[in-house]
Amino acid sequence: MSVITVAGVDVDTRHWIGGRRVASPETFEDVSPIDGAVLGQVSRGGRAEADAAVAAARAAFPGWARMTAEERGEILFRLADLVEEHLEPLSILETTDNGSLLRSHRRGVMPRVAMNIRFFADYAINQLSHPVFQTRGHDNHVSWDPSGVTVIITPWNAPLMLATWRIGPALASGDTVVLKPPEWAPLTASYFADLTREAGLPDGVFNVVQGLGVEAGAPLTENPDVSRICFTGSVPTAKVIARAAAENLIPCSFELGGKSPTVILDDADLDLAVDLAVEQYDNAGQVCLAGTRLLVQRGIADAFVERFTQRAATIRQGDPREEETQIGPNIHLAHIARVQGYVDRARADGATVAYGGEVAGDIGPHYFRPTLIVDAPEGSEILTQEVFGPVLTMQTFDSDEEGLALANGTEFGLAACVVTGDRKRAEDFCRDLVAGTIWVNCFFVRDLSAPFGGSKKSGIGREGGIWSFDFYADVKNTVYAPNGWHEGGSHG
Ligand code: NAD
Repeated sequence: MSVITVAGVDVDTRHWIGGRRVASPETFEDVSPIDGAVLGQVSRGGRAEADAAVAAARAAFPGWARMTAEERGEILFRLADLVEEHLEPLSILETTDNGSLLRSHRRGVMPRVAMNIRFFADYAINQLSHPVFQTRGHDNHVSWDPSGVTVIITPWNAPLMLATWRIGPALASGDTVVLKPPEWAPLTASYFADLTREAGLPDGVFNVVQGLGVEAGAPLTENPDVSRICFTGSVPTAKVIARAAAENLIPCSFELGGKSPTVILDDADLDLAVDLAVEQYDNAGQVCLAGTRLLVQRGIADAFVERFTQRAATIRQGDPREEETQIGPNIHLAHIARVQGYVDRARADGATVAYGGEVAGDIGPHYFRPTLIVDAPEGSEILTQEVFGPVLTMQTFDSDEEGLALANGTEFGLAACVVTGDRKRAEDFCRDLVAGTIWVNCFFVRDLSAPFGGSKKSGIGREGGIWSFDFYADVKNTVYAPNGWHEGGSHG
């Protein structure tokens, strides 16, 4: 009952608390979006399991915090190596569980998981500079101290990648961790827990509580023994978590949704623009960063739409385990219904579905066709709300100023993509564009040392490089006066 087997890979789906497997009396069903197959049952945690995990993490904290960055690094480097040794089972599990492409997991996502661990362990050893500077003859010593128990709550669109890009810096900072994985894709977190044990992570330093958001996630965010909450997910859930965290004044890092623009100026290389626009369908549109609002300068709009629809027609949609597939399924039938609802309401609002707009019935009910919506009325839902499916909208504009106003005309500010042949024009445009990350003539170039996060409703805070340590660690300044020392420098 407590083991799910996927293509020969076994996963223990009980919680991982204090270095041992813990079952809950109740379970929830895990379903594959590839074909709707029931994969098995997963422990359904609640307040008792959440409290036990925080207590285990709290108990493990002093020992882990006392270790040097080098000592912690030794274990974390081993963990990164183990992830690399298990790329194949991790990739198979993730694809089966969330429907993302197997080849992406093998070649990009899972190697990145290992990098998430290794990069931050190395950063703690080699790059936290501990600067010393003087104030009127006094020495200021800055340090990044472990802060306590970090709770990490993640969504299903890239479960292990998104989890480890927080687990890495949290553990490297000397914090202990409780992870609440997404209920629609819980498997890789459980598998990863076994790797942490094999790597030699002391009991309780890393814990996993499986379950539904309101049952297992909420009590973690309400626990006063928690020191940090890192949440990746939707805006409505972030508001609930912010209220819970406020009760205990727990600092939060929020990485939330987006409605990012892909701005195509009239001097853009049209082939590049079409390539970048089609890329926004990646992961069946279930990417927080996706530039789903195509904003195209009027002079090239007709040519763009023609080439874009030609290219969209060549996209291979199907089983994400097949090498040639470019777009797989969406995560869940309930999610598909949500995506269809957005498209239907856009039509009712007067928009035109220029391409797609429905489930690809010939492939299966979980596969929504890549969709392009044009002529949506200004301010309508499809132009303002995050769909989180393979649905792009297109709007046109005349002047750069008008394009900028359209790009910024959203309550989100996670990312933006700008396509233009003129560097000066790009710099002018980007200066006033509001977004945590802007890509010019490229997309999805993400370096772990760069700041990442959202402006406006897309998030609170930045992570990556030093910004991760600034959040997970307690930054401390110790000021040494030049006087008051005993002769010879020793006491006693
Ligand atoms: P969600 O907010 O529904 O759920 C995210 C996680 O929160 C899940 O693990 C869920 O169980 C948990 N949760 C739900 N209610 C909770 C509560 N009351 N207390 C504690 N935890 C709770 O989001 P989702 O549908 O899983 O993910 C899609 C969203 O995530 C989109 O908005 C997407 O843009 C966003 N996202 C953002 C980033 C980023 O880095 N900015 C990355 C990926 C996804």
